Amino acid sequence: MANTEATLQALVNLSHDLGRPERDLVILGEGNTSALCDDGIMYVKASGTELRTISAEGFVAVRREAVAAIAEEAQLTDAQVKDALEACKVNTGDKRRPSVETVLHALALGEPGVKFVGHTHPIAVNALSCSVNVLEAIAGRLFPDEIVVCGPAPLYIPYTDPGLPLARAVRDGLKTYGERYGQTTKVILMQNHGLIALGSSATEVDNITSMYVKTCKVLAGTYAFGGPNFLTPANVRRIHTRPDELYRRQQLKVS
Ligand SMILES: [Zn+2]
Repeated sequence: MANTEATLQALVNLSHDLGRPERDLVILGEGNTSALCDDGIMYVKASGTELRTISAEGFVAVRREAVAAIAEEAQLTDAQVKDALEACKVNTGDKRRPSVETVLHALALGEPGVKFVGHTHPIAVNALSCSVNVLEAIAGRLFPDEIVVCGPAPLYIPYTDPGLPLARAVRDGLKTYGERYGQTTKVILMQNHGLIALGSSATEVDNITSMYVKTCKVLAGTYAFGGPNFLTPANVRRIHTRPDELYRRQQLKVS
């Protein structure tokens, strides 16, 4: 029997946590979340729902592989994408529409070890992603816990039209990142848009989101004192591969 019930409950809880107003991660209907069950079915936030108040009924069940395959089809109109997503629903009578970013979620959930995805528009992260000097500002890592929780580097995606074009840009970025770092990214930073956290558990997605928000706040603060003093690439590699930090990373994933 698939782990559907526990996965969906963890997804609802994660969504409520990410939607808490005091965290400044999303307002109104911003952001979306998803999770993958053992049977290959994924749940994704339906359009028109709020993370803060969403219930299990606010998620649509779709077949992940079929959704991911939409990214490989020839150029589709918005209407054709909508029809293709409809065809991926597990319950054909389901009237709810999956989020416009469902293809992106399906691709992220197809990465090794990724079971939960959280996409938010944090104020602290978008102050960075909307800045002219964003590339210079994310060129290095700032502190060890950033590396432990968020990995050796974020995957940066230049601004792209939401929907299928953005999903394709993320697909290509994930491939390049995997080849460069030999692992899946924890953080996708989308220019003038927001953050995507990829985790093996709901807790990990929440941890990554919190730590990347902190990173962006620290980064902004460094510009008050002359700009970021990045760790050296050797420092970053050392933290990323130290046995005690690997252990700590494992502990943090436990929900
Ligand atoms: Zn968004």
